[in-house]
Amino acid sequence: MIAAEADAWDRAGLLPVGLLRGLGAEGRLCAQVPAEYGGWGLDSAAAGEFTAHVGSLCSSVRSVMTSQGMAAWTIERFGTPEQQAAFLPRLTGGELAAAGFSERAAGSDLSAMTTRVRRDGETVVLDGHKVWVTAAHYADLLVVFGKYAEGTEHAEADSEPGSGAAGGDDAVAVVVPADTPGVRVTRVADPLGCRAAGHADISLDGVRVPATHVLGGTALPLPLLVTTALAYGRMSVAWGCVGILRGCLTAAARHAATREQFGAPLGEHQLVARHLAELYVAERTATRACEHASRCWDEGSPDQVVATVLAKHVSAGNAARGAATAVQVLASAGAQDGHPVARAHRDAKLMEIIEGSNEMCQLMLARHVLGSA
Ligand code: FAD
Repeated sequence: MIAAEADAWDRAGLLPVGLLRGLGAEGRLCAQVPAEYGGWGLDSAAAGEFTAHVGSLCSSVRSVMTSQGMAAWTIERFGTPEQQAAFLPRLTGGELAAAGFSERAAGSDLSAMTTRVRRDGETVVLDGHKVWVTAAHYADLLVVFGKYAEGTEHAEADSEPGSGAAGGDDAVAVVVPADTPGVRVTRVADPLGCRAAGHADISLDGVRVPATHVLGGTALPLPLLVTTALAYGRMSVAWGCVGILRGCLTAAARHAATREQFGAPLGEHQLVARHLAELYVAERTATRACEHASRCWDEGSPDQVVATVLAKHVSAGNAARGAATAVQVLASAGAQDGHPVARAHRDAKLMEIIEGSNEMCQLMLARHVLGSA
């Protein structure tokens, strides 16, 4: 069903919400959540292969999975046992979630985040604006990241973004029901790719939720909070890119084997054969990088963070180049909206931007190398 409908959903820019809720209620959108909370309790490697499968069919559905999984992982990693018991069964029971970090002035540099969360009695109040949040259009629950200011309702007005003044770099992640008064969700118009993934901006204007919705403590260092949440997203995107590559490889190989030009199948012309070889190498190397990173997650290896960045960087770059190669092999047959390789080409490009752009990944990898020297 997903394979058959993916192009129509892409053109419409919408996924059927009933389908998403159904997948969610079967625990498929966040399959690593432990069974005690209604999940499948998959390890990273098994969840990764499942993510790649969905990614090979429809990157918009896979993007919703990534968001749901990232929200669940943040709750699992930072929530108290009571919060885990309160929220995780909702995410495996059909409710949909999204995770909001980015702001207009805080993209690659999340330390410039200006969303403020302040305590007021038994509640917290959020003010800020998040942008480009995947799946926010569909979400029932928003995991919002912001800076915490203990009872400092007025102190923030003049502080520079990213200065860390008044509220410092203490950060919080807050579970905000999307129907809370003061929340406004506005769809991003006409995204280049993953068009049905429900990207949206979120305005938070004096949004008040119970203080019990603040995950864990109120004094978490911002880098720890965002790195932990993003690590899950990176792993999921990386496996999703493996799926894009597999879909492109299948489509390109099938076309090159069956279409003839100059009296021979395309695949017998050496320059086209080279495209196929490159696509195969791209898929295999991305798969190996993801398998290695997932093994690090499953074994609790100290290399987990760098292996995840490496997997994301390799897979996203390979998917962007590989999808372009697939369009080249299909040429006019794949150069139109409605063909999976055309969709893959648009979707894959965005994977080089999200969850740490190519450049941010390269900087992190370089820092790792320098640190080891
Ligand atoms: P900028 O930070 O302005 O960067 C622009 C360019 O400059 C990039 O190429 C970047 O790599 C480069 N650059 C920036 N700083 C440096 C530097 N120091 N050195 C070298 N190069 C640099 N956000 C969420 O919170 N939740 C989501 O679910 C989510 N989903 C998204 C889905 C899609 C499809 C997209 C496109 C974005 C999504 N985002 C989401 C936002 C995403 O995280 C940001 O777009 C990303 O972090 C980059 O930020 P920016 O777009 O502001 O680019």
